Amino acid sequence: MRNKKKVVTSLLCGVSSLVLAAVPVMADADIQKYTNTDFAMDTVVSETLYTTGKDLNETVGDKIREIETGLLSWTDENSQIAKLNAASGETAEVSDELAGYLQKIFQLAEDSGGAFDPTIGKIIRLWDIDGENPHVPEQSELDELLKDAGYEKVSLDGDKVTLEKGATLDLGATGKGIGCDVVADFLKTQTEVSGMILNLGGSSVMAYGEKPDGSDWKVALTDPRDTEGDYLGAITLNGGEFLSTSGDYEKYFMEDGKRYHHILDPKTGYPVWNGLDSVTVICDSGLLADGLSTACFVLGMEDALKLLDKYDADAAFVDEDKNVYLTSGMKDRFELMKNTYTVRDLQ
Ligand code: ADP
Ligand code: MG
Repeated sequence: MRNKKKVVTSLLCGVSSLVLAAVPVMADADIQKYTNTDFAMDTVVSETLYTTGKDLNETVGDKIREIETGLLSWTDENSQIAKLNAASGETAEVSDELAGYLQKIFQLAEDSGGAFDPTIGKIIRLWDIDGENPHVPEQSELDELLKDAGYEKVSLDGDKVTLEKGATLDLGATGKGIGCDVVADFLKTQTEVSGMILNLGGSSVMAYGEKPDGSDWKVALTDPRDTEGDYLGAITLNGGEFLSTSGDYEKYFMEDGKRYHHILDPKTGYPVWNGLDSVTVICDSGLLADGLSTACFVLGMEDALKLLDKYDADAAFVDEDKNVYLTSGMKDRFELMKNTYTVRDLQ
């Protein structure tokens, strides 16, 4: 988009230098920048909006909260997901909007061979990793809950959803990405908005439109082993792109030198230990960036690359030996900021 603007500007330059002097300056001067920090989906929301109209940051926060309470919440009994779970064993109807998300989510579950699985919510709660009582569960408890998990226990037929009795849905691994999509769709209806960067909890980011000065949208990549949350690099995003990071450093507890974190292998019900510390994915959908980052973390680098190819997505993998592996489309966008890490090519 930025390139298009440059072409238009240089065309104008050929026609009349007077026009060139007046048009961009006037337009940019009218654009106001509004920043805000909000709280939604149990996390901090950072918003930077560029518009010639009014400040929409509060409305953006409300949109995300509406999705959370109306659609996604596991605990709010009025949310569509909570209602579906309460109706486990029966067929229930959901909104067109949720049906659309579920269709993408179950396609990803299938494409990832179940590495990403939206039916493991009960197992996640058993570990209680970010709750009051994080602990390693008994194997018998895990085995019991594994029986009710498995994406094939859910069938979709248009807006009708059927969960096998005992099966539940938890969209935690895609919730923030869906939040980003909802905001992007809202912004498309706001003609005065020229650009926005939205960051949900540091793990899901939406870049929309462009900045008035034409400079890049940049997102910091967290060093997974820096306890202060310091950055190891920066990634450039274009307007219309979404980024998501899944890592073993966001929610975890340590026991006997082992890191028990919040990304589980649906086959075992245990945290994934495969040498990866984090995976960051960029693509043109918030839901998919979020789901893919979780899926790729579970799959490990080799299988993740096949999945990314299928979705035309790019990624940065950070491993425990302080290597950063970049897919070809990520190379030009990534800037290393810590010399304790080494950038390596994948393709
Ligand atoms: P974030 O917490 O930043 O959203 P993720 O997008 O990686 O991080 O989502 C992790 C969350 O997804 C976990 O907290 C858990 O609720 C759920 N989850 C964990 N493992 C899986 C998995 N293999 N498939 C689907 N969801 C998962
Ligand atoms: Mg995710």
